[in-house]
Amino acid sequence: MQEIVKPLLEWFQQNKRPLPWREDTLPYHVWVSEIMLQQTRIEAVMRYYARFMDALPDIASLSEVDDDALLKLWEGLGYYSRARNLKKAARTVMQEYDGVFPSRFEDIKRLSGIGEYTAGAIASICFNEKVPAVDGNVLRVIARVTGSRENVLLPAVKKQVASRLSDIMPDEAGAFNEALMELGELVCLPNGVPLCEKCPLHALCAAFRDGLTEVLPVRIKALRRGKTELCVFLIRDADGRIAIEKRGNSGLLAGMYQFPNVAGHISEKEIKKQLTAWDVTPLVIAPLGEAKHAFTHIDWMMKGYRIEAAHKSDRFLWVSADALQKEYALPTAFRKIFKLE
Ligand code: SF4
Repeated sequence: MQEIVKPLLEWFQQNKRPLPWREDTLPYHVWVSEIMLQQTRIEAVMRYYARFMDALPDIASLSEVDDDALLKLWEGLGYYSRARNLKKAARTVMQEYDGVFPSRFEDIKRLSGIGEYTAGAIASICFNEKVPAVDGNVLRVIARVTGSRENVLLPAVKKQVASRLSDIMPDEAGAFNEALMELGELVCLPNGVPLCEKCPLHALCAAFRDGLTEVLPVRIKALRRGKTELCVFLIRDADGRIAIEKRGNSGLLAGMYQFPNVAGHISEKEIKKQLTAWDVTPLVIAPLGEAKHAFTHIDWMMKGYRIEAAHKSDRFLWVSADALQKEYALPTAFRKIFKLE
């Protein structure tokens, strides 16, 4: 393992991408980008990152931002608890660290929404602390280089990798961690198509030597995904305004807006009953088709309906399509129904 350090650092110097959050090593920039990059591809994050930094240029502004404005900035990125945790952590930094981002791995890890990986990335990139930052890219590279057949989705295996990396961590800890991640992003690609001929580690790599790049890393999922069926209603009044409501303050998509919906794929008779309960008199009930949305552990199987309502029910907020686009944080799952119309 020790032998990977030098070629990796040299390769990184020559090949690292000029990303906006690499222009400096301010903890705020590295932190926000790392949180956005969880579950989201770099190309998509670039747009969101620039908009986010324009609106909230520092920790103080993030700590004070209105929840609706924050969720609007995050709209489309998904996994909205990330945005809420960012604000919570920003408040902690303002209150407990006088607005200065903590510099030690152990303190960083205690902030809301920051786990081992993100704390390791910030501590090493911004403060050069010699701690590893092990994400999926790093696990893949190390499994292939070492030829390990262990299941990289197991926490114990991740710990082992972190421990082996700690043992070889050079003084340039931030550059080393970033180099491993960058190699996984650009060269040691997933799904059996790594660009080994361009890789600085190919002379040291067991998977390349033994022709195992297609089978490593081993990833065995323990979790079975759940499914939830929903009927979602795009209800418009005579002026074309659309009914929306705010979700509760906890749980999935907390605090965001949604179209009225009910659990289950219910019959037209049951739909009429439900609409009556909402004080909506339907002039038209038209099926829009189906859409699926995948969350971390659950899939929503949605059936959409367009409803023309005779009058506005006080139960909902009635907004124009333009206002819905610009002012309300509507999760991607519901946008899929909007697109069916
Ligand atoms: S040689 Fe190929 S499989 Fe090995 S680390 Fe490099 S890109 Fe990945």
